[in-house]
Amino acid sequence: MSPRPDAPRLDVRGPIELSLLVPFYNEEAAVPLFFDRVVPVMEAIGLRYEIVCVNDGSRDGTLAMLAAAVTRYPGLVRVIDLSRNFGKEAALTAAIDHASGRAVIPIDADLQDPPEVIADLVARWREGYEVVLAVRADRSSDSWFKRKTADWFYACIGRISEVDIPANAGDFRLMDRCVIEAMQRLPERARFMKGMFAWVGFRTTTVSYIRAPRSAGTTKLRFWRLWNFALEGIVSFSSLPLRIWSYLGFAIALAAVVYMSVVVAKTLIYGVEVPGYASLLTVLLLSSGLNMIGLGIIGEYVARIFVEVKARPVYLVRDRIGMEAAESAKPEPRTEAAIRLAAE
Ligand code: UDP
Ligand code: MG
Repeated sequence: MSPRPDAPRLDVRGPIELSLLVPFYNEEAAVPLFFDRVVPVMEAIGLRYEIVCVNDGSRDGTLAMLAAAVTRYPGLVRVIDLSRNFGKEAALTAAIDHASGRAVIPIDADLQDPPEVIADLVARWREGYEVVLAVRADRSSDSWFKRKTADWFYACIGRISEVDIPANAGDFRLMDRCVIEAMQRLPERARFMKGMFAWVGFRTTTVSYIRAPRSAGTTKLRFWRLWNFALEGIVSFSSLPLRIWSYLGFAIALAAVVYMSVVVAKTLIYGVEVPGYASLLTVLLLSSGLNMIGLGIIGEYVARIFVEVKARPVYLVRDRIGMEAAESAKPEPRTEAAIRLAAE
């Protein structure tokens, strides 16, 4: 397929200035809408750019749609196909690792982050800021439940976290290459991007925007996904048996408090049955419940240490499309396999 006559012309001179990083998970309906809206906006900005798309193990036609976009916008769109669904944080890490722009902008595929805001982000970057956060002025497009849980989450993390995690700023932001290089020095597997972005610091400013409703499809981050995301997204493998103890501990401690009030009330009304018995039992239950909470919390940390010690890669790439220019030095895994097959 030859490029359309109206396809944006790629200026091959000079370095790539901006990289848009876009994670796609089962977004086949959103793909064409995304490119139709984003490409004109980027053309208007007038800087050389690339769109790094990560297919995060989609089970629908997303990959085919992305491959079509590579043909339609040659040299502008690059696709990294992951071997399975690794989650949005891992997909963004993959995109960061493959981006070559002097600044990068992670943006959702569903157009909830309006591309028109990119011009404002770039304007602030040109003023000399290394990080430009897009902060949601209004969350009315989210459900009541999501707004409330987000408020609680930010209130909670704001109190207990060592770094200031800006409230209502998602992954939509502009980061200079120096920030990306700093990010790549953080080796952790549990990639809580918001926290990591906050930890690296740099000169930061904000731009406010109104979050739009989803362009097509449905949200991929349902309640349990968000919950685990808040607990750094570690449900897999063996952290669950450890975690269960903290819940059990809370339940027992709660039961002990309820039982204690019943005993106290009964004693006040009917008088003492066996002196000392009730108080002993409640203290016993309460302290064993508290022990379990402690054990469970240690378990949370041990589970994270386990994941870090295994040092598995954050993501695995199955294929790359449209990366020839940027990745010419690296052999494609597919090509290698094909060469081996031909030799045999
Ligand atoms: N996403 C992803 N992997 C996942 C879940 C989501 O790459 O496992 C992508 C998704 O395709 C979208 C972005 O992350 O581009 C945000 O997801 P979504 O819109 O479902 O989240 P919400 O906006 O509802 O928080
Ligand atoms: Mg969304």
